[in-house]
Amino acid sequence: MAESPEILLTTNIADLPGAGGKRAAAFRKLGIRCVADLIRHMPMRYEHELPEQSIAEAGMAVGPEHGREANISVRGEVAACRMARGRQVRFEAQVCDDSGTVLLTWFNSPWMKGKLHPGMVIRATGKAKRYGDYLQIANPQWEVIAEDEEAPSRREERYRPIYPASEELTSKVIESVIAAVLEPATDLLEDHLYEEYRRKRELPTLADAFKTIHRPEDVGEAKHARRRLAFDELLMLQLGVMLKRHHRRKTLTAPALDHNEAINEHITARFPFELTGSQREVIDEIVGDVVTALPMNRLLQGDVGAGKTVVALYAMLLAVASGHQAALMAPTELLAEQHFGSIGKMLKGSNVAIELLTGSLKATQKKDIVERLASGEIDILIATHALLTETVNFKSLAVAVIDEQHRFGVHQRATMRAKTDEENTSPHVLVMTATPIPRTMSLTVFGDLDISTIRELPPGRQTIITKHVPGAQAGRVYGYLDERLAAGDQAYIVVPVIDESESGLKDVQSHMEFLNNGPLRERRLAAMHGRLKREERDEIMGSFRDGELDAIVATTVIEVGVDVPNATIMVVEHADRFGLAQLHQLRGRVGRGDKKSLCTLIADPTTEDGAARVEAIVSTEDGFQIAERDLEIRGPGELFGSRQSGIAPFLVANLPGDTNLLRMARRDAAKWIEQNPTLGGERDALLKRRLLKTHGKALGLGDVA
Ligand code: ADP
Ligand code: MG
Repeated sequence: MAESPEILLTTNIADLPGAGGKRAAAFRKLGIRCVADLIRHMPMRYEHELPEQSIAEAGMAVGPEHGREANISVRGEVAACRMARGRQVRFEAQVCDDSGTVLLTWFNSPWMKGKLHPGMVIRATGKAKRYGDYLQIANPQWEVIAEDEEAPSRREERYRPIYPASEELTSKVIESVIAAVLEPATDLLEDHLYEEYRRKRELPTLADAFKTIHRPEDVGEAKHARRRLAFDELLMLQLGVMLKRHHRRKTLTAPALDHNEAINEHITARFPFELTGSQREVIDEIVGDVVTALPMNRLLQGDVGAGKTVVALYAMLLAVASGHQAALMAPTELLAEQHFGSIGKMLKGSNVAIELLTGSLKATQKKDIVERLASGEIDILIATHALLTETVNFKSLAVAVIDEQHRFGVHQRATMRAKTDEENTSPHVLVMTATPIPRTMSLTVFGDLDISTIRELPPGRQTIITKHVPGAQAGRVYGYLDERLAAGDQAYIVVPVIDESESGLKDVQSHMEFLNNGPLRERRLAAMHGRLKREERDEIMGSFRDGELDAIVATTVIEVGVDVPNATIMVVEHADRFGLAQLHQLRGRVGRGDKKSLCTLIADPTTEDGAARVEAIVSTEDGFQIAERDLEIRGPGELFGSRQSGIAPFLVANLPGDTNLLRMARRDAAKWIEQNPTLGGERDALLKRRLLKTHGKALGLGDVA
């Protein structure tokens, strides 16, 4: 380790000077394993460091008049120091160099005593003020430069990168390790964007961008470097999305479905209500897609209760009307059952054959369904992810609906596509989600989806009254809850954790005990959380739905949900601990019937963000406003980012901040793929390789390239 090794991008962090042993482990904890990871570790910000001046120079910079001030950085030897008592206790040190003297003063800082002593050479930085003919810096930053040995040369002005660090690894250490490999490592970086394109877009080379982002001369340079790196990430993702889209449109065909007024009337006659204007609009958009042979890939978003199911049913019935099949996949067994129930009711008396396929069917039942799907006897299949197993194949699947997109991912969509037996055919895919996707995000992760939005709720919906109550008043909340439950209402009570923990947060187990022995002792309660088996959870939800329970004490597992119209009260403990989208989903569990509903958020927010979330949820019921607000409060991070989609997170790009760059990336990527649909040829070879490496798996680009 003493010898500096030859630097490669793959060189192990532990082999770098100053990064061996314990430090290597600390680097690994930050996700840094090799040189390439190291140079991708981005500064969060820069600290402007003043150039060191001699004391005389600094004095001139401050100016001659009494009371003038300026920021300075000087170095000198401590000549004397003392603790002085006046109106305020203060520690003073006189520091001199060949050119002059400066007085450093620390107010109310008894701990400074003994830190400095005559003979030390220190650097002091701060705001200096002129008092007659001497200079004083109050509460300066300082560091020891040398005690006996020779001092290093004077510091120049610079922008010092500040890195995300950890307890074991300071930003300074990271800085020095990066600085040591930066030149040789960036020299190895080949650019995947060809020169002419870079020039047109005024982008520096990848090597220069990395070099500069770690060691900018000024703020403008850092911005320029950052722009390249952020753009790169956005462009890569857009290229991936466009590549996929192009492939789908060029190579796959879907059955073009019939649509005319007779069919429309036939379908809508099945619905027990008038469609809202919003539902009509999105149906028109869907119809526009499915009457062509280009496979539809559409996201249907609409708040909880917006009435997405009939829209999906409309699309499915179009498939049936043209002699094909349709499928709807729900994220849980209970939801599948619920769809089966409500859709079955609407289709009662028709000749549409509908079946329910879930994991808990007996093998013989399952076999029977699989056979009848393959022969085309079944028109509409409602299912859980049991649908995705290999044995399930349709005779002619024309419309595939996936409910609650954020529970699945890009993979499932691809698997659904493969459920027809002819090669190169695909069903029209409709994905439904109740978590609205803010505009900027819809261009990224969901960039290959067309989007339809139901904005209007069906008429007659009761609003949900949402209240914030401080913890001290929880007693009153449960007192009132007890009365309402006694009168026949039902409730959900949500807490943040399952087991008692050091966090001091309420947990399912003890809260259940507390309620059972206290305010709700006369009521029938059940506990529910993610560690219970799916069947156990479904059973509890089933009893709740059937009115055999008064309340469920749960974690957020109830977030995705079954309709229980009689559940009219939601109580969320430590509400400030939940995400905004989560709170909105939770609230959506009530207000599903025609009764007035109530959502009570019990919280004593300890952070600004927490308070902002509670405030936001109290102030609006509109899921779209909430989604935008969420994006503002915490940035896009987890919302629709990497976790659910499997898409590599951005290191540099930031949304909505980089929306303009995103637009440019999107336009360019579209053109790029139009001109070179498979990214073939030498010019784009490296680009293609990196693209597949970064997004190939998550976007399912395997068959594309
Ligand atoms: P979500 O969008 O959350 O899936 P659903 O499709 O479950 O919403 O619809 C919620 C409720 O609203 C259901 O009971 C459904 O029957 C009802 N509904 C849907 N559309 C209308 C409409 N146009 N008029 C009246 N009620 C409707
Ligand atoms: Mg639904």
